[in-house]
Amino acid sequence: MGRKIIVAGLGHGGIAAAALLAKRGFDVTVYERKSKGTLGYDWTDIFAPAALGIAGIPMPPEDKYEYKEHMTFFAPTAKRSLTQRVPDDKLEIKMERKDIYAHLISHAENCGVKIVYDCEVIAPLTLGNRVVGIQTSLGEFQADLVIDACGINSPVRTNLPSSMGIEKNVRRNEKITIYRAFYNKASYEDVKAKFRVMLFAGGEKTVSWVASEEEHTDLLVGKFEEFSLEWLEEYADFLRQTSPRLGKEKVRGGQFVEIPVRHPLSVMVGDGYAAIGDSAFMTVPLIGSGIANSLKAARMLADTVSGDAGLSYSAETLWKYQVKYYKELGAGLAPLECVKYLLLNLTTDELDYCFDSGLLNEDNITMTADFTRLYDLFKFDIPDLMIKGKCIIKNTNLLKKILGCGTEIAQVTAVCAAIPKKWDRKKVMQWARAYSKPFDK
Ligand SMILES: Cc1cc2nc3c(=O)[nH]c(=O)nc-3n(C[C@H](O)[C@H](O)[C@H](O)COP(=O)(O)OP(=O)(O)OC[C@H]3O[C@@H](n4cnc5c(N)ncnc54)[C@H](O)[C@@H]3O)c2cc1C
Repeated sequence: MGRKIIVAGLGHGGIAAAALLAKRGFDVTVYERKSKGTLGYDWTDIFAPAALGIAGIPMPPEDKYEYKEHMTFFAPTAKRSLTQRVPDDKLEIKMERKDIYAHLISHAENCGVKIVYDCEVIAPLTLGNRVVGIQTSLGEFQADLVIDACGINSPVRTNLPSSMGIEKNVRRNEKITIYRAFYNKASYEDVKAKFRVMLFAGGEKTVSWVASEEEHTDLLVGKFEEFSLEWLEEYADFLRQTSPRLGKEKVRGGQFVEIPVRHPLSVMVGDGYAAIGDSAFMTVPLIGSGIANSLKAARMLADTVSGDAGLSYSAETLWKYQVKYYKELGAGLAPLECVKYLLLNLTTDELDYCFDSGLLNEDNITMTADFTRLYDLFKFDIPDLMIKGKCIIKNTNLLKKILGCGTEIAQVTAVCAAIPKKWDRKKVMQWARAYSKPFDK
């Protein structure tokens, strides 16, 4: 084995890992289907800036980002709301997606990464159970290790030999379909809640936001099923009743996209293969943020690869990357999928009750830059538990649902803690089955 690495797809974690590895002397090439200068979406994203430092990437120039607004969460009837109180030192930054990419790419190129654009990755090249390269629209390319950063529907992951035991497909309830666009400002009146996040607005099982920006109004609507542009336009009209600032003229974006909102991939590595970012479902299942986790994972992967003294890049040596990821992030992220199912299982009345009764408070919706586990939202101190207990006890159906969710969280937490510390194929596959079971819905 040598030191030749392919990164399939220019995902955020992939390009960050590529930069770290190229800097450490590896020969790294990224193959990306889009053309140079066209990466990213025509909108802004929010992420924890500290993740850049972890991945060895400098902060972007100050004129390229600003700090995120506090979000205000509205109950389905829109009567009650809760506003986040994120301390200044825990605020995430907001940046144009295209600028995030430009920053990551220029850093990677400075570190010696080669990028081939306009190259569609079709499938992995395999030799028995080992990944030895990729098949692409420009031909076949071989490498000692393939890092899969092709996103949720990666053709590398979905075409791996089944014998590698790596999940291929994402179920409908494990991904959210999002429509996002920036519209003109229909009113210049001051808005109280600048960043309105609405849960089940109008009784629909949606998560939506209307954010009032200086130049435009940002609309995002997410659902756990496909929806048409016609439906979206009707729904946007409904949202305009409570957000009169949301104009009708689309000025930017206007795309349907999918985000994985599920537990991280049960097996992220194989011989000659490692998945990162959305290919390995590294997003926070409750909110779909994945940039910071992908950047942090890049560091873990690069350290594991460069620590492989025998240059074998086998499942056995790469497993260390997955164990570290689960220890630091995955074990906290996976139980959040149980909370997602609890939310989806609530009726609009029950969700209203959570806001009206005081069961939910500002802490419970304050997602800081460090948010990666349930404990970050629920402190479980005695006075808070007493208030929550009083509220839940009065609503038997809600109580049953919360207890069911609690049991699932306990199961998932226990199985995450039992991840095999060393690679043993049989034990890892057994663990992966036990880990996936609570999510088998
Ligand atoms: C609407 C929306 C809003 C979001 N907002 C946020 C946010 O505010 N904060 C946050 O942290 N996260 C956010 N996310 C999630 C975030 O985008 C991802 O979790 C994160 O970027 C990690 O994904 P990725 O880079 O691994 O994959 P992707 O972003 O999917 O990148 C995959 C790359 O691989 C390329 N590719 C795919 N298939 C092929 C192929 N066959 N051949 C060659 N190249 C290929 C793609 O062109 C792309 O460049 C959002 C996602 C969406 C859709």
